[in-house]
Amino acid sequence: MTAAATDAPTVRVEAAESPVAGPTEVDWAAAVAAVRQLPVDGRVLLICHVNPDGDALGSMLGFGLGLRRLGVHRLQATFPGPPEVPEPLRGLPGQELLVPAAEAEPEPDLVICFDAASDSRLGELADRLTGPGTALVLDHHASNTGFGDVNLVDPAAAATSVVAEQLLERLGVPLDAGIAECLYVALSTDTGSFRFDATTPAVHEMAARLLATGISPGDISRRVFDSRPFGAVRLFGEVLGRARLEPEAAGGQGLVWTYATLDDLARHDQRPYVLEALIDPVRCTAEADVSCVVKQTGPDGWAVSLRSKGATDVSRVAVALGGGGHRLAAGFTGRGTVEEVVEQIRAELAVPASGGGIDQQG
Ligand code: 5GP
Ligand code: MN
Repeated sequence: MTAAATDAPTVRVEAAESPVAGPTEVDWAAAVAAVRQLPVDGRVLLICHVNPDGDALGSMLGFGLGLRRLGVHRLQATFPGPPEVPEPLRGLPGQELLVPAAEAEPEPDLVICFDAASDSRLGELADRLTGPGTALVLDHHASNTGFGDVNLVDPAAAATSVVAEQLLERLGVPLDAGIAECLYVALSTDTGSFRFDATTPAVHEMAARLLATGISPGDISRRVFDSRPFGAVRLFGEVLGRARLEPEAAGGQGLVWTYATLDDLARHDQRPYVLEALIDPVRCTAEADVSCVVKQTGPDGWAVSLRSKGATDVSRVAVALGGGGHRLAAGFTGRGTVEEVVEQIRAELAVPASGGGIDQQG
C-alpha cells in the first residue's frame, strides 16, 4: 500500500451538516459527452484504486465491457502496484482488458477512475490525470476530493457500480451477462452481500436488473466470498486467536482488534489479499462497536481496516491518521509497531465525535 502512504483527503465526512449532493444533470451530460465525443480510435484508460476490491475491479471491468459494446476498442484497464488480481476476483468477466500499470497508455484521450476517493489512491498512475485527455471520476466516497475534470461522485450510492450502471444506461448500453456479473460482484461486495444499511430498495432493484441477465448469484457468491485456501483458514484461526477486546475504548463503545504480519502470511504460504476478508469475523464481536485489523505491508508499514457498527465515525479516525473511507468502514496506512499503530487509533477514538455522517461501507 505504498500509494496510500500519502493519502490525505482534504474533505471530511460531515454529512449531517452538509449533505454531499450526488452528480448534477450537468455532470451526467458532461460524462456522456466525454465518452460520445471520443475521437475515432480514441484511447481510453480505466484505472481503479490500489489493492482493488470487488467494487473497484467490478465497476471498472463492467464499465469497460460496456464501452466495448459501444465500439471503443483502444481500451485498457489497470490499477497501481503489482498487477495481481486477488484470487476471488479472477473469475470476473473482462479480465482481458487488464494490463499491468507499467504498460498503461501514457497519454490516453479519456481516463476513467473507479472507486478512488483521491488521486493518491491511483499511485504511480495519478500522472495520467494531468495529460491532455479528459479525466472522468466515478466514485461514491463522501471524502472524494473531486480530482477529475468531470466528477460523478454519489455518496448516497451503495457502490461505485451504482454510478457505473447509471452512466451505462445514459450511454444507451444494455446490460449483458458479462457486464452484469461484474456490477453484481461490485454491488454485493460493498453492501456486505446486501446486509449493510446502504442496501436500499434501489440497490435491490439494481440487483434485480443484473440477475435478470441470467447470472448465477450462488456461483458468484461462493467464488467471491465463500472460498479460500486451507492455509488461509488456518491463518485466520491463528490471527483471530490473538484478537484483543478493549471494552473501555471508543468512549466505552469498545474496540476489538488483531493484526497479521508478513511472517504470518509466509508461514501459511498466503498472499496478502486473503487478509481482506479477515475484518468480517473480527467485526462480529458483540462487545465492541469498533473493529480493526492491522495488516503488515512492509518492515514498519501496516494497512489498517476499521469498521463501526454505528456509534463511531471511523472515517474521522482514518482521515485524522492520513487515510479515508466511509463512516462505518475506513482505513489508513500505519507506521511503526503494531502497538504504536493501535495506540494512535485508541487516541483518535477517544476524541469526542462531532455530528453524524453517511452510513456507508465499502
Ligand atoms: P478496507 O478496510 O476494506 O481496505 O477499506 C475500507 C474503506 O476505507 C474503503 O472505502 C477504502 O476505500 C477506504 N480505505 C482503506 N484504506 C485506505 C487508505 O489507506 N486511504 C484512504 N483514503 N482510504 C482507505
Ligand atoms: Mn466502493
